[in-house]
This record gives sequence, C-alpha cells and structure tokens, in this order.
Amino acid sequence: MSDALRIIPITPAAQQAAVDYRALDVARDHADTLVDGLGRPLRDLRISVTDRCNLRCTYCMPREIFDESRTHLERAEILSFEEIERLVLLFVRLGVRKIRLTGGEPLLRRGIEQLIERLARLQTMEGRPLEIALTTNAVLLARKARSLKDAGLGRVTVSLDGLSDATFQRMSDSTVAVSVVLEGIAAAQSAGLGPVKVNMVVKRGENEHEILPMAEYFRHSGIVLRFIEFMDVGSTNGWRMDDVVPAREVIERIAQRFPLVPLVPNYSGEVAERWRYADGGGEVGVIASVTQAFCHECTRARLATDGKLHHCLFAGDGLDLRVPLRQGVGDRVLTNLIADSWAQRTDRYSQLRHEIAGQPVRKIEMSYIGG
Ligand code: SAM
Ligand code: SF4
Ligand code: SF4
Repeated sequence: MSDALRIIPITPAAQQAAVDYRALDVARDHADTLVDGLGRPLRDLRISVTDRCNLRCTYCMPREIFDESRTHLERAEILSFEEIERLVLLFVRLGVRKIRLTGGEPLLRRGIEQLIERLARLQTMEGRPLEIALTTNAVLLARKARSLKDAGLGRVTVSLDGLSDATFQRMSDSTVAVSVVLEGIAAAQSAGLGPVKVNMVVKRGENEHEILPMAEYFRHSGIVLRFIEFMDVGSTNGWRMDDVVPAREVIERIAQRFPLVPLVPNYSGEVAERWRYADGGGEVGVIASVTQAFCHECTRARLATDGKLHHCLFAGDGLDLRVPLRQGVGDRVLTNLIADSWAQRTDRYSQLRHEIAGQPVRKIEMSYIGG
C-alpha cells in the first residue's frame, strides 16, 4: 500500500500509551482527497472555545448538574488562541472550508475578537475562501456585534427558543429578557453579520406553542429561522423520544398558517431542510437530526475546548491534540494525526440511534463538544 493511503490507527488508548510521533512524520498529500471510512470529506470544523455559559438551558446544561459546584476547565486545560490558529491552518489544508466558533457561550471567551482576527488572516494566507461563523445565545451580542464584524467574523447564528419571556426564561433557566436577545440580533444585522440565522430547539410540551409566533415574527425580517429537533447529546438532559417534535410536524403547522414551498439545498451536506414562504416572506428551515438523520452527508469535525478532536456530536471520546501540540511536534505529524483519525471515522450515531437505544453509551456534553 502506498504511503499516501496508509492508515495509522490512533486510538485514545494508543495515544495514552505514548505514541511515537516520529513514526507519523511522513509527508502525505491528504489535501482535498481526504475522506472518512464512509466516503465523507472533511469540510467543516466547529470549535468550542469555552465550556462556560451565562445561561442554563435545560436541554444543554441543566442547572441540577451544571451548578456552582461543577468545575469548569482550568485555563491551562483550554487551547490558547495560538494553538487553535495553528490547528485551524492544518484543518484548512485538509479541506475545511467553514469554521464555526461555539461553546458553551463563545462570547464569554475573553478576547474572542483576537481569535477571529487570527482566523480571518488564514483566509488570505492560504488563498482559499474560509467562512467564519459563530453560534451564540446573544446575551452579549448587542455590545459585541461591531467588534466581531471588524475582527473578520462573517455570520452569526443566534439561539432563541421562544418569544415570550416566560418560555425563554424557563427553557434557559435564567432571568434574561427576550428583548436582550432581540437587541443582539438587531445589532448583528446592522453590523452586517448576516444573513443572521436564528435556531429554535423545539421540545414537546415546553415551547411548541412558540412555533407560530416565532415564524410570524421573523417572516419578512431577512432572518432565517430554523427549528431544531431536541437531541440526546450528552447524558444529562433527560432526553426521551416523546419530547421530540418531528420537523415534519413543525413544517405542517407553519404551512397551515403560512403556505410554504420547498427549496433545494444551498450545497451538498447542508443539514437544514429549507422552505420559503409562498407570499415572499423569506425563508424558514428545519434540522431533523433525530427523525431524518443526515449522517451520510456529515462533513463536520469538532474541536472541543480541551483540544480533543471529535468526529460526531455523540462521541464518547476524542483524539487529544493538545498533548502533541504542547510536546512541540511538527505540522506534518499533527496533520497526519488529524487525517488518519478522519480516515478511520465511521460515525453515524443518528442513523443507529434506535438500534442502540437502551445500551449504555457515554457521550460528551454539548457545552464541551460545541453544538
Ligand atoms: N451558547 C451558544 C448558543 O446557545 O447558541 C452556542 C453553544 S450551543 C451548545 C449551540 C447550539 O446547540 C444551540 O443552538 C443550542 O440550542 C443547541 N443545542 C444544545 N443542546 C441541544 C440539544 N440537546 N438538542 C438540540 N440542540 C441543542
Ligand atoms: Fe449555554 Fe448555548 Fe447550552 Fe444554552 S444551548 S446552555 S446558551 S451553551
Ligand atoms: Fe454527524 Fe454524528 Fe450527527 Fe451523524 S450523528 S450527523 S455522524 S454528528
């Protein structure tokens, strides 16, 4: 087998047993030809820049678990901006075209603008288009939108689960007013961080009644509203299939009030199913991660706050990139580590969800791995 095709298995256990990084120091031309075990290319990288959050959404960081006694990662355990930049460059060379900063709440990471500036510079250095986006709860967005744009951020996606304070505060387990989030969205729009998208997680019995008010509010606004099925990420949010409102049902409810016309995907691998309002009111979408799994098109890797690389939102463990980074290994070795782990990837959790239901599976929490 040629060197370019040789796969070196790097399991977390093997890594703990002291990998001989020199053995990986072999130049290989992975760029753009890299595919995983199911033929999927590596195109998107989600980076969780902090495991902290200023909200406690019940489906993500339930307060009973994520209370004051819960320790967050120490500063030394978190990847620095220099480390993230170095890794992103390697990912870009391996085919990544889109970076999404997430968390936890990414706007809580001090100096986040400096990281964005560094990433924006990579576009020019590599001479390839690199989309830089960020997902936020928008609590701090009104005051940061302009500086984020100036730093080179392309787009923001805002999470908002209802228009009434009662629903929003119950789901985010906070006292934050919806108006704070709406001001953040408006600031992002006027700063040119668009097209702004708004994500709403729909949970049965919690916020289904907000589907139509949200659709009505964001129609004709230039904002794309997307409804996300409640997922079983991590193991603390008490997920039950009964709590999932299928995307099909969301679309039917909206279409009864505002007729919808299906749209073709913007690009292959787009996770949202897109619709437009027949009266020209703009676009709306659904992300049916549970009821219509799209694993066959999943081109995303995830860099967790602590430097572990995960290839699936439902991963149990990842490849530790922080250790080799801090041991001073060269770019070629790091590239080979990343490429080999992607080449071995066969994840398709959502397609297998019902087959493995009931089996004990340890999964990383959303706030570490990044949504
Ligand atoms: N704090 C930021 C925010 O809320 O936008 C970024 C991180 S958050 C983990 C990213 C996205 O994941 C949010 O849109 C959130 O609604 C979504 N999310 C978190 N837990 C989820 C779950 N169990 N099911 C579906 N979506 C979830
Ligand atoms: Fe925080 Fe976002 Fe998770 Fe809500 S969904 S708790 S805002 S990280
Ligand atoms: Fe991708 Fe895993 Fe989600 Fe499937 S379950 S779409 S492989 S992240």
